[in-house]
Amino acid sequence: MEPYIKDILSSEYEGKTVILKGFINSIRKGKNNVFLILRDPTGLLQCVSNSQEEPFQEASRVTRESSVEVEGSIRKDERAIGGYELHLKRIKIIGLSEPFPLKKGHSKVFLFDNRHLWLRSPRVTAIMKIRSTVFEAIHTFFISNGFYEIQSPSFVGGSVEGGSTLFEVDYFGKKAYLTQSWQLYAEAMVDSLWKIYTVAPSFRAERSKTWRHLTEFWHAEAEMAFVDNTGIMDVEEKLIKSIVKAVLDKNSGELDLLKRDRKILENTVNKPFLRMKYEEIIDLANKNGLKLEYGADLGSDEERVITSKLDVPVFSINYPTKLKPFYHKPDPNDPSHVLCNDLLAPEGYGEIIGAGQRVDDKDTLIKRIKEDGLNVKDYEWYIDLRRYGAIPHSGFGLGVDRLVMWICKLPHIMYAVPFPRTMRRLLP
Ligand code: ATP
Ligand code: MG
Repeated sequence: MEPYIKDILSSEYEGKTVILKGFINSIRKGKNNVFLILRDPTGLLQCVSNSQEEPFQEASRVTRESSVEVEGSIRKDERAIGGYELHLKRIKIIGLSEPFPLKKGHSKVFLFDNRHLWLRSPRVTAIMKIRSTVFEAIHTFFISNGFYEIQSPSFVGGSVEGGSTLFEVDYFGKKAYLTQSWQLYAEAMVDSLWKIYTVAPSFRAERSKTWRHLTEFWHAEAEMAFVDNTGIMDVEEKLIKSIVKAVLDKNSGELDLLKRDRKILENTVNKPFLRMKYEEIIDLANKNGLKLEYGADLGSDEERVITSKLDVPVFSINYPTKLKPFYHKPDPNDPSHVLCNDLLAPEGYGEIIGAGQRVDDKDTLIKRIKEDGLNVKDYEWYIDLRRYGAIPHSGFGLGVDRLVMWICKLPHIMYAVPFPRTMRRLLP
């Protein structure tokens, strides 16, 4: 394997001749020199050619974003990015670029219209590397804690999270929907495997245009047998700590490039998360200037205010029953509330996980399905799980794109996804 730029930025390579491939990030032409900034997945490197030298003519012909192969010797130069530069001996143009349409100062819409090209920028590349670490850390956490990875269908016959965000598809003349969550299927699979997880896209026809909603998002979901709402919170906390730790360990350069302040990420790894009852969360919101009543639902705007001054994630626990879907277990000591938790990220980001204990009693489940205005018939197979050996069980769904948005402190969830899907964006 030929080395990457990151590998050769060391005294070990000084004076040595290397061959590198990459794209031309930028060009500066002097009277007697041409400076080409080469870019590969690991960084930038200044390549220089003097007008007296052989590669000068070809180096002068190169355009921004052309792909090239370069050969040259590495020398120390404090002025160059990374502290080293490559003195060109040879340059081969692999693909000469036409005038590149992206320049500094473009609007967000223009940049997302050109997402296929914008992905190359060092900043976007840094976000995607962090995203990769997040996915890797999720799998590592679950597998090393004895979970089985298992999959549920994407075509489904009924809703999980309520009808308003269902995507309907024509399924051979019948109505089908794209899955909003694996949850109901997870509750069947958990009976045999006891600790399960999946990482898959979920689909929601979100019409409200907020900074944290996509129509297709990546959902890391887990379900556990014989675990209650408190037990599942412990698992969520460990998961988030291990993901953030992995990013801090592996993506220091990327966090620097994004100018991401580490303090709150470090707190997340080292300090216990806060745990507050729903009513305490409402009180906190009102202390911060909102005027919410007990029973009010919390959306992006409310959670922004609630979490903007926090320096560690907070669990918001036991919501009023009427705010949550039918599958949440009512608290036996207070059935007006359910045994659930949402994990809210600090710095104004709000909900990244929705979680809770599931109804494990047949009659309560049927009553709750009816109260939600759903057809009991559509859920017969799900009710079976309570007919034939019910167990206490709990689970959660982590919005991976939201987590990446917060870790990178991005202004909108679209920046956290290679090709975001929203109500208004289907291309590229
Ligand atoms: P919200 O109240 O923000 O709409 P929700 O309560 O409907 O979210 P859940 O059903 O609890 O979301 O889904 C679990 C997790 O999946 C959420 O905590 C969030 O991180 C993520 N998620 C849900 N909907 C979206 C979406 N439209 N785009 C991106 N992530 C989402
Ligand atoms: Mg939720």
